[in-house]
Amino acid sequence: MNQDRIDVLRAVPLAAFQHVINGRRVSASDGGAMSVISPVDGTVLTTMARGTREDTDAAIAAARQAFDSGIWSDLAPAVRKKILLNWAALIEANALELAVLGVRENGTEIGMALKAEPLSAAATIRYYAEAVDKLFGEVAPTDPAFLGLVHREPAGVVGAVVPWNFPLMIGAWKFGPALSAGCTMVLKPAETASLGLVRLAELALEAGMPAGVFNVVTGEGAVVGARIAESMDVDVLVFTGSGSTGRRLLEAAARSNLKRVYLELGGKSPNIVFADAPDLDEAARVSAHGIFRNSGQVCIAGSRLLVERRIHEEFVEKLAFHAASIRVGNPLDTATQSGAVNSERQLRQNLQFVEEARGQGRKVIGGQRILEETGGFYMSPAIVADAAREDRVFQEEVFGPVLAVTAFDTEAEAVALANDSKYGLAAAIWTSNLSRAHRMVRKIRAGLVHVNTYGGSDLTIPLGGVKQSGNGHDKSLHAFDKYLDLKTAWIKL
Ligand code: NAD
Repeated sequence: MNQDRIDVLRAVPLAAFQHVINGRRVSASDGGAMSVISPVDGTVLTTMARGTREDTDAAIAAARQAFDSGIWSDLAPAVRKKILLNWAALIEANALELAVLGVRENGTEIGMALKAEPLSAAATIRYYAEAVDKLFGEVAPTDPAFLGLVHREPAGVVGAVVPWNFPLMIGAWKFGPALSAGCTMVLKPAETASLGLVRLAELALEAGMPAGVFNVVTGEGAVVGARIAESMDVDVLVFTGSGSTGRRLLEAAARSNLKRVYLELGGKSPNIVFADAPDLDEAARVSAHGIFRNSGQVCIAGSRLLVERRIHEEFVEKLAFHAASIRVGNPLDTATQSGAVNSERQLRQNLQFVEEARGQGRKVIGGQRILEETGGFYMSPAIVADAAREDRVFQEEVFGPVLAVTAFDTEAEAVALANDSKYGLAAAIWTSNLSRAHRMVRKIRAGLVHVNTYGGSDLTIPLGGVKQSGNGHDKSLHAFDKYLDLKTAWIKL
């Protein structure tokens, strides 16, 4: 990464952003626009269209027409693949520009943003595009008097509502398999992370994707997102975000056309360290990274550290050392290791959790607002060293750089603490005892359980939650299940 090039890109003035509907850039039907505030310095970056119900309906109609006409779904898979691969190549060619644009809008540190956003989105599109001409139907082993065929058909129009952390990566986990499968899409980005997704839609058109296949409507969740959810013309709804919004989407689906709804919701993931962990220094370093990277704004963040009592004090010291050595600062400086919190609202919410823990007499290390003079939204990592299981910081998702640490004595107590949560997204176990590792993997209720590491799984591994962390899976070939319907033909021979 070249700092000079980043410095040029960070200073580029941005014109107003519009929706991309039916292959065209369009303003809101009522001319409305909303300011895009940069968390880097608190200034107004640009404006983007404030989508209306009419805009959303227009995008859904375009996606419906594109799907029903067959211009995308009826293409030979190899042809669809070619267009998708063109798109991935264009995203890669514009990767630094896209990464800087995203960082200016959502504050993720540039090194991580480059890798996790455009480059990861391009890799995801490529992964699913490469798969489309390798998916077969089935011939069922029936009575020879009949022929039973199982076809896989694209499910139709997909509505996608995505969050502000890693918008391109999480977006691609939806549009990668959906568009590859032959579906069309209306995507609604989060209010504070829209610009990169609008650019991606423009690049899709440049790559040769027909108009109406991939539409992006910016604006407020309660307007655009809600309209997608209640539409009679959207067949599948995929979402990543908070549980409260997830509930609304399910209700809207039930009130409208019973569309399938797949939810990737939050987590309060337990990271469990036994005294027999292979390397406590490494465990502390990776655990600090597992909660504090991207200012804790990672859905699978290991936000509850459960540590065996006899190493509690020593381990918290090691963690505090690693937390203090993370360089928090301007996300567009290549020396920075963790950037800005996404919004002022989120920063205030994070600090409130820290203050509440202090008020309860808990031992809190770090957790201050810093670099306020920049106008940006920054805080130092916070460790609540002795959280109790009834504390809000132990039970509720902060979605910030705030770690709740709780000691345990036995394996059974560790399992009970780990499962004492409404969430079930991710977990980790650090131990040298192989049998214990396997026992714990079985007993912990989570979609993803790490052993002697945290994070870093690749595209081949499905990601999804249990309990109130959601349903369905992003990533891996299993993601196709959401976007392909099975149709059987029963033929008398
Ligand atoms: P959010 O639910 O407020 O917003 C997510 C999206 O939903 C945004 O695009 C928003 O505009 C839209 N939205 C808001 N209200 C809506 C409504 N009434 N109808 C339809 N759409 C609406 O969540 P957020 O603050 O953007 O994201 C942070 C949350 O997402 C955290 O809780 C985090 O854990 C979760 N998350 C989960 C995963 C995962 O993979 N499970 C990944 C990233 C983030």
